[in-house]
Amino acid sequence: MKNLHTKRGNGHERSKVSKSLPKDIKRFVSLGAVFDGDLYLVGHPTTQKVGPHEEPWETGTYSLTEWSKLFKTPQVLRRLKNQSVVLIFGCMDKRYAEAYYKFIRAKYDDDVIIVSIFVAGGIVQKDAKRAKALKEMAEFFNKFFTLKAVHASGHSGGCGGISHFEHQGKKVYDALGFKAFSNEEDEHISSRIKQSKKSSLPRQVWRKTELWLVTELGGEVIILFVK
Ligand SMILES: [Zn+2]
Repeated sequence: MKNLHTKRGNGHERSKVSKSLPKDIKRFVSLGAVFDGDLYLVGHPTTQKVGPHEEPWETGTYSLTEWSKLFKTPQVLRRLKNQSVVLIFGCMDKRYAEAYYKFIRAKYDDDVIIVSIFVAGGIVQKDAKRAKALKEMAEFFNKFFTLKAVHASGHSGGCGGISHFEHQGKKVYDALGFKAFSNEEDEHISSRIKQSKKSSLPRQVWRKTELWLVTELGGEVIILFVK
């Protein structure tokens, strides 16, 4: 896993960041707490979490984001302050997190920092508390950093988050009578992704947001532009 390079900041940079960060920083630090139990939903509670500034784990391992890690590493916040930030939202699913991250990463130059929020369901959140937490994370970046773009996604193939929050634990395709990775499932998830833009992202970032569906075709992960 590659971390951000921790360049030594001088005193000037340090004071610039501490001045511009909000007084109620504790509120922002606590936003990740609603997702803390997501690894229990998929039966992998001991998997290590990943900082928003770090790359997800390799395919085969769940990559739940530990949001608060960002605030425990001042050198990362300092570096974020001076660069453009691209924010990505996706499901922590072990099949897709890495592929989706790499797909987005490849769109930008190396000096653009990718901050990723991987939680169960990705951008698709029925629970109002969870949607609001994602919204406030995006607000945080839009307000205090230079937010270049937002990429928000959900995926087909029986997303565990959507199964848990929308279908009492049943796989999405079973609950709705579709086949996995069928056009019907992809269309259903795409429409949930479009609806979720409004509930999970603040209006101020909609114009810089692109929505993506992560799916599979013949065993290969494919990423489709939704809107
Ligand atoms: Zn999922």
